[in-house]
Amino acid sequence: MEKLNFVNTIVRPEDLESLKEVAASLFSEPETQSQSLLDTLATLGLMDLTPERRALKAATALVNRAENQGVSAFKSKVGSPFFRLSAKQRFVLMGLHRLKWSYARIADCLGIEITSVAELAWLARITLQMSMATSEKSGPGSNRVAGSGLASHSSCPEFVSSSPWTQKFLDEECTVRERTFLQNHLMVCDSCRMVLGRARKLLFDLEIAIPKHNIDESIELDSISNLADSMRARKVVGRFGFWNDLLRFLNRVDTKLLLFALGALLVFWFSTKV
Ligand SMILES: [Zn+2]
Repeated sequence: MEKLNFVNTIVRPEDLESLKEVAASLFSEPETQSQSLLDTLATLGLMDLTPERRALKAATALVNRAENQGVSAFKSKVGSPFFRLSAKQRFVLMGLHRLKWSYARIADCLGIEITSVAELAWLARITLQMSMATSEKSGPGSNRVAGSGLASHSSCPEFVSSSPWTQKFLDEECTVRERTFLQNHLMVCDSCRMVLGRARKLLFDLEIAIPKHNIDESIELDSISNLADSMRARKVVGRFGFWNDLLRFLNRVDTKLLLFALGALLVFWFSTKV
């Protein structure tokens, strides 16, 4: 119980769970996942941040770390369709599929526009679908790009190939107005319903490709609580160390004598000037 309280001083339990999944989308080995998470929390734990902000910054730091490591972040899974995606793409898919994060939250983590998140997500999904189809060696036609289709009525929503409405609809990122329009339109338009159906299947098929974390719970709890201990110690030293040292210095007998001598010298110097 005590241990859990220590952990909670750095990161909320629900954020820790999310961050473990983020780490799993970026690093292939459980040891690298937990080590990266610990290093990140150690750095951010010292900063004065709200728990919400700290969790976001931790996710950002993990993405940056994976990007810097390049291939060595996923040594054992170089051939896996998921790990062939870029670190940012893997993070976006984890955020959307497993963590159910909004585009806005992901945009905040990556420091990009919301529209860029939609484009990044669509490219990642299409790339992953094609790469999964290739690695499964399925028959021709199975790697057909889901969701692409030509609008057959003038009232059909515009299909932007880099960021289609189907994805926005399924990720629940439409405004109430857009959603109402689409729902009404889908009731009367077969081709849009078909396009949406293909996109829904795409998103569903990708679920199995997104890894789950397997960080050992007990090891992880121990190391995070040790980390919390050492951070608390560092924080105290960081905050009060300077003043403690100064007080100790001023209380020393030789320091007092030195200050007295300096004072006398100043008085003498001033008296000769006048
Ligand atoms: Zn339509």
